[in-house]
Amino acid sequence: MMPHPIVRFAPSPTGYIHIGNARTALLNFLYAKKHHGEFILRFDDTDVERSKEEFAQAIEVDLAWLGIAPHAVFRQSERIALYHAAAEALRGAGRLYPCYETAEELDRKRKRQQARGLPPVYDRSSLDLSAAERAKLETEGRRPHWRFKLDQKIAHWSDLVRGESHIDCASLSDPVLLREDGTYLYTLPSVVDDLDRRVNLIIRGEDHVTNTAVQIQLFEALIAAGSGSGAVPGFAHHNLLSSASGEGLSKRTGSLSIGGLREQGIESLAVAAAAVLIGSSVALHPVASLDELAASLDLSQISRTQTRFDPVELAGLSARTLHGLSFEAVRDRLAAHDIAGYKAKAFWLAVRGNISTFLDVVDWWRIVEGEIPPVAEDAEFLAKACDILPEEPWDETAWTVWTNVLKDRTGRKGRALYHPLRLALTGRETGPELAALLPLIGKVKASARLSGRVA
Ligand code: GLU
Repeated sequence: MMPHPIVRFAPSPTGYIHIGNARTALLNFLYAKKHHGEFILRFDDTDVERSKEEFAQAIEVDLAWLGIAPHAVFRQSERIALYHAAAEALRGAGRLYPCYETAEELDRKRKRQQARGLPPVYDRSSLDLSAAERAKLETEGRRPHWRFKLDQKIAHWSDLVRGESHIDCASLSDPVLLREDGTYLYTLPSVVDDLDRRVNLIIRGEDHVTNTAVQIQLFEALIAAGSGSGAVPGFAHHNLLSSASGEGLSKRTGSLSIGGLREQGIESLAVAAAAVLIGSSVALHPVASLDELAASLDLSQISRTQTRFDPVELAGLSARTLHGLSFEAVRDRLAAHDIAGYKAKAFWLAVRGNISTFLDVVDWWRIVEGEIPPVAEDAEFLAKACDILPEEPWDETAWTVWTNVLKDRTGRKGRALYHPLRLALTGRETGPELAALLPLIGKVKASARLSGRVA
């Protein structure tokens, strides 16, 4: 039986998250939601130079906007003691060894290997150093970096997206876990935290497939060394998104940042639907809630190839998302713009199908409730129309009753009948059904507008 899933999203707070990062976060969050599991937000901030608290905070704001509420949040920078203990356990087990090559020396080695047609795999020469040789290098002022000694075997896992997967670790360099300055690269802290927090499924981008082979060995080594009790988690590697022009997304691609999309008025639910459905075998469609999206989530439907992300398609999806939102779903957002009271629901239902971003409601509310400058295209015709406005109360039939009489009296029809009315009543060439707007505008305003007065 599938255990209660514990998943995590682990961004480095070195920039703002973009749609590709949000996709990883959403796949994790929705998976946990669907299976009643837990979602942890972990900031991978061991790179002290590049990590910034302001980015961590911005990421939390972006996730909250998307509707992602983590069960727990923590930062790796607060947990260094755990990583030291794990490194010590690996040293004790003979799996972490000091290396003294400089970056230039490593580069020369790689070039020599390439010239001979060999793969650029680290040759483990530091592993052969005697204690005396190491001591000599240290007296010369060299500080070691530390590599994890891989077993030369094949790592296997059953990937929830990619199916049975394997990587031959003999083709990989022993990964550096600790830098010369004693700081950790991403690889070890991630495994230590996943073990400590009992993460049992890692859903991340396929750029991490090689890390997975290495990390499976690290999980096994730490468990064997008694430095962690859990088990090796399951893995799911989703395909990556590229920009519409085919380049990879980066934290610098401002317009596709989540904050940028929010500022453009894109609906968060549309971002979520796009993030989950783009790059899967399910066609892009608007959803009414994250619960609906979670219920339909199926990791095995994610495609194996890179997918282009088209912002124009997202804008269209965002508009279609708005068109289907119930009044209850937007009540608070409308109220935040002072759109409240007995007309608010009818107003929303009248305008939702005609807006492309939520903020468009502000203009339409002004048209219904506020004042607009007069636009009289045909004063004589409008005066006739005004004279025969029916008595209130008005419902959606008022418009048809009124315009039918007007049609008979004036002989006008089609655009000649409707266009001057729309222009006078709303100040706009196009917009929501007048049958729905007219009762909201009401007779006092309608008469004034038809008579060319500001109302
Ligand atoms: N900090 C890593 C990243 O942003 C996390 C990868 C992982 O999920 O293990 O790529």
